[in-house]
Amino acid sequence: MEALLRQARFLKGATSAHHFPEDSGVEVAFCGRSNAGKSSAINALCQQHRLAYTSKTPGRTQAINFFKLSGDFRLVDLPGYGYAKATTTVWEQWQRLTESYVARRRALCGLMLLMDVRHPLMEIDWTMLRWGQHYQLPMHVLLTKVDKVNRSTMARTLTKVASSLEQEGLHAGVQLFSTTKRVGISQAREKICAWLRDTLITARAITPTKDTPAEEGSRGQE
Ligand code: GDP
Repeated sequence: MEALLRQARFLKGATSAHHFPEDSGVEVAFCGRSNAGKSSAINALCQQHRLAYTSKTPGRTQAINFFKLSGDFRLVDLPGYGYAKATTTVWEQWQRLTESYVARRRALCGLMLLMDVRHPLMEIDWTMLRWGQHYQLPMHVLLTKVDKVNRSTMARTLTKVASSLEQEGLHAGVQLFSTTKRVGISQAREKICAWLRDTLITARAITPTKDTPAEEGSRGQE
């Protein structure tokens, strides 16, 4: 199943919900503050060098990028958030686009949230976590760039983030991650593949048709 990620190919970028690909199959989305290491993580997980890359220009048009795996599996790169210089308009565009995706996308079966281990759980990360919880999405946090801190800081941050989430009643896995030192890559791959596989199995068992949509707010897949 992990070979699945190596097959990732850019499918399309969408700047509004009208441009999303058909909402069928199963997909896992990645989100995180700008510079958290999201593009590097997607590339490392898919064993590719330039699959995902970001322009570092604040205020550029933000898009949701879809990558096709085999069959009807996809990975989705949500726009980075939290540019220090972002204008209100850029912020509102980000919010509208991202929430329209997270709230309505039936194919979405899990959210990977990336946070720099040196600055985890910033305000905007809590926003994403609360959306994920509200829309009943399985979530998993990657604490990135752990090569930049020592072992005791890694361990302390992991425990602290896990307990902060628990205190807030948020259900999410948490793990350490580094692309440069190759920490946690297999663990993250296994999580993504398990979400994709389990959701597909459940979806096959339920086999919803276009005439019998799931209830609003319920994904019926978890
Ligand atoms: P994005 O904006 O979230 O897509 O972040 P990028 O993947 O573009 O990474 C932002 C910066 O962090 C780049 O300079 C990367 O080379 C660097 N970076 C990404 N992952 C790691 C990592 O695991 N360790 C270190 N030391 N740097 C990283």
